[in-house]
Amino acid sequence: MTAHDRATGILTVDLDAIAANWRFLAARAPGAEAAGVVKADGYGLGAIPVAKTLAAAGCKTFFVATIDEGIALRPHLGAARIFILGGPLPGTGADFTEHGLVPVLNSPDQVGLWSGFARSHGTPLPAALHLDTGMSRLGLDAHAVGLLAADKRHLDGIDTVLVMSHMACADEPGHAKNAEQLTAFNTLSAQLAVNAPRSLAASSTIFLGSGYLFDLIRPGAALYGLNPVPGQPNPLRPVVRLSGRILQVRDVDTPQTVGYGATHRFASKGRVATVAFGYADGLFRSLGNRGFGVIGGVKVPVVGRISMDLTTFDVSAAPADAVHPGAMIELIGPGHDADQLAEEAGTIGYEVLTSLGRRYLRDYVGGAA
Ligand SMILES: *Cc1c(COP(=O)(O)O)cnc(C)c1O
Repeated sequence: MTAHDRATGILTVDLDAIAANWRFLAARAPGAEAAGVVKADGYGLGAIPVAKTLAAAGCKTFFVATIDEGIALRPHLGAARIFILGGPLPGTGADFTEHGLVPVLNSPDQVGLWSGFARSHGTPLPAALHLDTGMSRLGLDAHAVGLLAADKRHLDGIDTVLVMSHMACADEPGHAKNAEQLTAFNTLSAQLAVNAPRSLAASSTIFLGSGYLFDLIRPGAALYGLNPVPGQPNPLRPVVRLSGRILQVRDVDTPQTVGYGATHRFASKGRVATVAFGYADGLFRSLGNRGFGVIGGVKVPVVGRISMDLTTFDVSAAPADAVHPGAMIELIGPGHDADQLAEEAGTIGYEVLTSLGRRYLRDYVGGAA
């Protein structure tokens, strides 16, 4: 029996679609460099195959969140730039230089750390400066920018290769905060007056207009096929399919119930398929009695609670010959994408992808894996 035939859950990742999405986004920002954000294991899809695919498509700059994510990627990326969004922690300077990683400096403390390390290192060291234009999360605020601008010695030893900021509401094009952050970014970066490329746009920001694109775009979610323009048709190619194997099909009738807590009671005769994935595979418990899958071209509802390894679907409406032990129910695919599943779970596609479990057979299509 092949691994495919016995797999209980199959996650298919279309690497060619990821490359096509990167090219599409790059083409929307013709004057800018297109980077690739591959933090959180490439949004759950596999940082190494994704990054290699993007590099083969021409991507030369990558962003991850942690130092260890950068160390793991370095051997696969040749001389490409790898930025660490979380920046340096005390004592980690040598980890950056040894693995060719570039920190994003998010606070006066991190600027001080990096400047001190660079001065003891003896040669200027590259870094990005992150300006806070309204997230109040990471980044140098207006006060900190003022101090740096007033005394450039704070930046001694730092070769500033990027000045960046991050948007809070870019998925809501009509939100007043978008223009406010754009203005703040222009003002603060002019005040800082370091001669470096600038970057403001993650996925949704790319669709706010050319004024937001600057010199480098940083898409993540859109590369993986999530919709950067909620409420409008998704302009990206779908990347992910997820399906689970049916272990058992049973006929049910009133007053039977299904699953823990007996939360679903059958009102009439029907059929239930029990599928071999559950919350241990990243299916949110909030999908219980709320989510949908697709089999034989028909949308079928999750009934009862999600359990650790099993999920039950009411397949009464599906073609009888499609539903049998060994057949697959698709949870994410063209007929029901990760954004839809997320909405049913009460979350966002980002959380669906980054929660995907480790038990799936992972099938990479195309690309440079
Ligand atoms: C995660 C992240 C991105 C990518 O955001 P998407 O919405 O996934 O495109 C870009 N910039 C920063 C600073 C991030 O943290």
